[in-house]
Formats: sequence, C-alpha cells, structure tokens
Amino acid sequence: MNFVETIRAAGVACDNGSFPVVLEPEDAVDWLICSAVSAEPLAESESCLSAMQPERVVAAVSAIAEKVGAKKSVIAVRSDDGPAAQALAQAIATSHAPVELFRTDAYYPANDIPVLVHRITGRLIAERGIPADVGCAVCGVQQALDILAALEGTHVTDRYITVTGAVKRQLLLKAPIGSRIAACAAEAGPLPADACLIVGGPMRGKLLTAPSAIEATVVSRTTESIIVLPRDHPLRARGKQPLETILRRVKSSCGNCRLCTDFCPRYGLGHSMRPNRIMQNHRRGDKGLGNDEFSEAFGDAVNCCGCGVCDVVCPVNLQPRRVNAFYRGGIVKRGILVPRERQPEVRQTPGIRGIETDRLTALLGLSEYAGSHSFDLRELSADEVSIAFARKPGRNMYLIRSAGDHVEKGELLASDGIDFSIHASIGGTIVKIDASGAQIKA
Ligand code: SF4
Ligand code: SF4
Repeated sequence: MNFVETIRAAGVACDNGSFPVVLEPEDAVDWLICSAVSAEPLAESESCLSAMQPERVVAAVSAIAEKVGAKKSVIAVRSDDGPAAQALAQAIATSHAPVELFRTDAYYPANDIPVLVHRITGRLIAERGIPADVGCAVCGVQQALDILAALEGTHVTDRYITVTGAVKRQLLLKAPIGSRIAACAAEAGPLPADACLIVGGPMRGKLLTAPSAIEATVVSRTTESIIVLPRDHPLRARGKQPLETILRRVKSSCGNCRLCTDFCPRYGLGHSMRPNRIMQNHRRGDKGLGNDEFSEAFGDAVNCCGCGVCDVVCPVNLQPRRVNAFYRGGIVKRGILVPRERQPEVRQTPGIRGIETDRLTALLGLSEYAGSHSFDLRELSADEVSIAFARKPGRNMYLIRSAGDHVEKGELLASDGIDFSIHASIGGTIVKIDASGAQIKA
C-alpha cells in the first residue's frame, strides 16, 4: 500500500475537508501545516497533546512531510499557549527536525483552515476550496499522531478528549471510539445535578441537555472535547432557541448594522459571505422567488463555515449562523448551484476578522473555567461500545464481520472500499452490526 492508502486503511478521520481526504497517491504539496491551535475556549485537546507528546508530534509531522514531499513543514500554535509552544520548540530543537513553529494570535477562529493557510503561507483558498488547491496539506495534531501510528501499523481505535468546565478535575482522556459520552464526563468527577454537556467546542459543538440524549451520545472519530456546564448556564438557553423564533426575531430586530459581516472571517478572506445581506433579504421574504433570485438573495449561505462569530458579535442576539444554515438547506432543496468566485481578494478593510479568545470566553460566560493548562491524563476502560459507521453520501459500507463474532481491538469491522475503514475499539463480541454501526461487548 502507498502512503495515502495506508492512512485510509487505518481509519484516520478525514471528514473536515482537509488532509488526507484531498490527497491522491501521486500528490505532492509545498506546505504541510499541522495545527496545534485550540481556538475554541475550553476545547484544548490539540494543545494538551502537543504539550504531553511533543516528540511524537514533531516525529509525525516530519514523517508526513517526507511522504507528501512538502518543501516546508509548520506546526501552528497559539501565541498564548506557553506549555505547548515550549514543549514543541524543545522537541524541534532536540530532534533537529526540519519543522518550524508558527505562533498565531490568540483569537477565534485561528484554526479555520483557509484562515490558517493564509496566515502562514499568504496563499488564499477560494470559497468552497481545499488546501490542496493552493499546494498545502493541513492536519490537526491528533490526526498527525493517528497517521504516524498508521505508518507504524496501528489502526485508529481511540480519541484523546479534554473533559473540562464544571468538573472536579480537568482531564485529557484517552477513550475508545464508541464509548458513552456520559462515562467520559463522569471520569472527571461527579456531574452537577441536571448538568448539560457540550460535545465539541462551545462555538461549533453539540449541546446535550436531555438525559436521554446524553446517555445516547458516544465518542466519534472526531470528538475532541466535552464541556460540562451547570443547568442554569446561558449557553443552554441560547442553544435551545427554536429556529422559528430566530427567523421571526430577524424580521423585527435586525438593524443591518453589518457587525456580523465585518467580523466574519470568510468575508475578510474575500469570500462571498455577507450575513447582514442574508438577514435583510430574509426580512423582505422569499415567497415567489425563482431560483436565480433565490440564489442572488441567499447564495452566500453556501460559503458559511459555521464558525458562529456572527452569533457572538450580533448586538441583538440574532444567530445569523442558523439563518444561513436554514437558507443553505433551501438552496440544496431547490438544487441550485451557486456560482463560485475562484479568485477572491483579501479585504484589507476590515481584513480577516474574528474575535480574541479571552473576549470570546468572557462573552460565552466561560471565564471561570478557562485559563488552566493543567490536565490529568487518564484512559477510559469501556466494557461496551457503539461505533457509528458515518459514511460519505452515496457510499455503501461493506461489513467485514458479523454479529456473534469475537474481535480483537483494532480488527477491521467495515469499510466503504475507498477511504473509510472502521476498526473495533475494544476486544469482545459483536452484539449487533449493520450498515449504521456496530455494538461490541467486552
Ligand atoms: S449583527 Fe445582528 S443586527 Fe447587525 S446586521 Fe448582523 S444580524 Fe443584523
Ligand atoms: S458563521 Fe457567521 S461569521 Fe462564521 S462564516 Fe458563517 S456568516 Fe461568517
């Protein structure tokens, strides 16, 4: 197997539009960028891993760079992330690896791929483009470590997850894929009564409030953090606001102040993304619009990356991100192909925007949980896992094993035959397996 086939067969997650999904076996790139940037408040697994395993991170980046023929290799880290930056700098110096450290400002979304690529290389990814379009490959720290493990012959079976927020002790938890999120959270100490959880960061993560939803959610191949919050936290009310209420409020309250657009990082990069314009067109209504008019009014929505900066800066709390998602759904439903600007120009005024991490943390009401880089490393021992076979649209999953089979950790369970392979995350008996997933009991 060549390099790309090896990492695909190992089950390395590649569903964020970045490395390695964009690479073909014959591809070579100018730049390899590994992001150790934890841009969302409290979601710090990339930073923690860098501080705890810096030698392996540098070794991973060096190995990948050699395989993809990168002329330059960079690890990006937040400028205020002292432990990760120092550990990585030391590992680079000791190993004499041809890897540079790039310190990016502490703001959100510093880890947005087009923003990161532009900051480091000056190259501009067009709207709906990918890093390979401009000669770059981008990966996260955990992805890089998974690739190194794949080159060493190991398959992806676990995730490193930070467990933070209203917990007794902050953890970097190594958990088998398919473990219960509730079990992961409980490792950090008893949960507050009626706690809610955010799986992922507070900006892009999924809010879980109902006990049944918390109980049903499991660690996926891309889970990075779990944030425990008390029941009265403001993020709970915000996440539960119905879409109908938001759409109605936009009509009555959007003053077209443009703050959402001025702070939008994709607008700053020169992409067609003007949330204030979508809000104004929503106020006018979409009744009777033909496809061309609909595309003209709401087409920007397909260029939204869902970062949520607009939600935070809106002075009247209108959540433009969810309005964008609503109209993106409308565009898909109508089958409209929105024209794509392939040569954007960075808008110097106001430039690439975003929001400082400290300010964002305060605005989200998370300051009391932030600021500590002290995480205990633990490993979760799960006696049962439910592994979801998330797959790409139009692809079939081929089941390699059957219900009743005994499997060892790391054995192949299913594959789409192209670039998606799923392995057993614990050893045990397969209780159930179908196209949607597998349940294994130790
Ligand atoms: S920031 Fe809020 S009020 Fe201002 S234009 Fe955007 S949605 Fe409207
Ligand atoms: S979520 Fe808001 S700020 Fe982020 S890209 Fe979309 S419109 Fe821009």
